Amino acid sequence: MTFRCRRCGESWPDHPVTRVPCPVCGAPAGAWCRRPSGHRAWGETHVERERAALAAGVLRMCPGAARPPEQLKLEL
Ligand SMILES: [Zn+2]
Ligand SMILES: [Zn+2]
Repeated sequence: MTFRCRRCGESWPDHPVTRVPCPVCGAPAGAWCRRPSGHRAWGETHVERERAALAAGVLRMCPGAARPPEQLKLEL
């Protein structure tokens, strides 16, 4: 599967944000964030986790925009 930034077209073989643990819900690296209900939020991650991924260097700001890649879309 491939994730692609809708804005610039950069793609990743896995969702880069999930390479770091989530500081909010405690999801380990490689797992999706969990909602309070316990269900996995497929394709969604906490904003704080996105910031952690940026800080860890696994995710970089979108070229041309001082913002993280947006709407990483799962492409099968
Ligand atoms: Zn989370
Ligand atoms: Zn981008």
